[in-house]
Amino acid sequence: MLTQARTRRSDDNRREYCTECGEKAPQRAKITIEQTHGDAVVAENVKFARVPCRTTVCLRCGATSRERMNE
Ligand SMILES: [Zn+2]
Repeated sequence: MLTQARTRRSDDNRREYCTECGEKAPQRAKITIEQTHGDAVVAENVKFARVPCRTTVCLRCGATSRERMNE
């Protein structure tokens, strides 16, 4: 039974522009941490070597797109 449980699902399925579809389509987004360098990272540079990326998957056509979030 569905009451008005407005839990925060803002990052679940939301409609965003998909370049493959050419229009807005439901997307599933998730945040991943990407390592931009190998293991030879100085401790001070760790925060620069790890970049949060937002990966979205188009639920209509299956296209994935990633964008970095540190800009
Ligand atoms: Zn699409």
